[in-house]
Amino acid sequence: MRCPYCGSLDTQVKDSRPSDDHSTIRRRRICPDCGGRFTTFERVQLRELTVVKRSGRRTPFDRDKLMRSVEVALRKRPVEPDRIERMVNGIVRQLESSGESEVASEAIGELIMEGLRSLDGVAYVRFASVYRNFRETKDFEALIGELAADEPAVPVTAARDPGTKG
Ligand SMILES: [Zn+2]
Repeated sequence: MRCPYCGSLDTQVKDSRPSDDHSTIRRRRICPDCGGRFTTFERVQLRELTVVKRSGRRTPFDRDKLMRSVEVALRKRPVEPDRIERMVNGIVRQLESSGESEVASEAIGELIMEGLRSLDGVAYVRFASVYRNFRETKDFEALIGELAADEPAVPVTAARDPGTKG
């Protein structure tokens, strides 16, 4: 695995351990050249998934993008990383086991909302408010993409009560 810091190909695994649900192996790696440390994840991929956006455009499903969207919604929330990992794994598993090779971007959004609702009320409201806005005004593809940006793309509309669903 190439070192993300210096590009060396000679990195070493220092530690491997499975996630709680044993669907992921997490490896801590170290680069002997620059001393950089990083983590990689190994997981099963059951099938290649294609996301169909509202515009009709197709793009390969990207688990990392999904994870980043979830992480943005959960920013600064007291939720264990293992629980987040499990939730995302659950979503991916549902998508992969649906029997379809194509999935609507909106279906992914719904699964994320569902998952966040059981994980953290505030994150759920954050995500849901953005999601609804996009539904009304913009293409949903922007949600998966732009939520991942570093800038705070998620308006914290705390005014809305988590209990009141559309
Ligand atoms: Zn390095």
